Amino acid sequence: MNSSNPTSLHPSDKRPISYRHAFEIVYVEDGVDSQRVSEILSLVQPREVIPIHHYKDVFCRPHQDVVLQKQSPALILANKRAPFFYPGAPVCQSFGNEHFYYTSVAMNCLFDCEYCYLQGMYPSGNVVVFLNYQDYLDELNHLLTQHSVYLCLSYDTDLFPLEAISHAISFWLDVASTKENFRMEIRTKAAPKHLRPLPNVYYAFTISPQPVIDAYEHRAASLQNRLQAVKEALAAGCKVRLCFDPMIVVPNWEDIYKEMLQEVLSTVPIEQLSDVSIGSFRISKDYLKILRRVRPDGAIGFYPFRLKDGYYHYPDDTAARMQSLVYDAIASRLPAERIFFDQESL
Ligand code: SF4
Repeated sequence: MNSSNPTSLHPSDKRPISYRHAFEIVYVEDGVDSQRVSEILSLVQPREVIPIHHYKDVFCRPHQDVVLQKQSPALILANKRAPFFYPGAPVCQSFGNEHFYYTSVAMNCLFDCEYCYLQGMYPSGNVVVFLNYQDYLDELNHLLTQHSVYLCLSYDTDLFPLEAISHAISFWLDVASTKENFRMEIRTKAAPKHLRPLPNVYYAFTISPQPVIDAYEHRAASLQNRLQAVKEALAAGCKVRLCFDPMIVVPNWEDIYKEMLQEVLSTVPIEQLSDVSIGSFRISKDYLKILRRVRPDGAIGFYPFRLKDGYYHYPDDTAARMQSLVYDAIASRLPAERIFFDQESL
């Protein structure tokens, strides 16, 4: 797998940063594959390696400063316990797939999006990488004896900047290449190179305007680099999904998104996309409460949202205007059945 530059934490950034010393502290859980640990430690070369009994002993400690930890996270190498697959959440798009699951092969992310729901979900900004992939595969094989599976691989992280450490993408692409009743989505805000085309794998690129990236998606790839990666993936025969999701209300958002759409339409051969998803920012009631606490100066979390079925959304008319803006721009170049919305009822 050569999907991301293994020497860079910032796959598209102008200033590649070596993995060496990126994590000053690595915690290693009892029972983790020692050969993989050795490989990772020689890549990362941390200042300190600390053995632990269970990853939760570190990850779930009380009173951690999530935002501070995101600036210089520790790496925790661990084995995941069952369950390995979870049913997709109702606010997440299933793209018409009946048996929709997500999995967690890593927790947290080297990017730092101010609106990331993981800040409300996890008590820590440290990064956990699970290494017992065979256990995931055993459960997947069991599920596949019952029905087909559509799996989202990267809901709780962005796997591309972690690939040199985790090898998760290469492992799961190998799995996907051997399964017929299995489809997989890998979502990213990176700009990975040399993606491997497989008929049952969707590379899903989150597309945001550059002012939103600059203000809120710290360390993620620029819009220009994401679009270049999309073009290259399509040229290589990959299935590509564009996700205009989450769309964020910022001052002058309509002009900012219109300008972004012009850049997308002039760069990407829209007709070749597998599909497009459109969604505005939404977050569960409980996660928003925590997000507001950990980011008290964050502009996104303090919008006067509407609460519906346990999730905060923008008011319906704002969300509908956002959806229409993208839909109207792409509908002439992509059939309607290949455009999906996070809120069909708007
Ligand atoms: S890329 Fe995704 S997982 Fe990573 S910080 Fe941003 S929203 Fe969170």
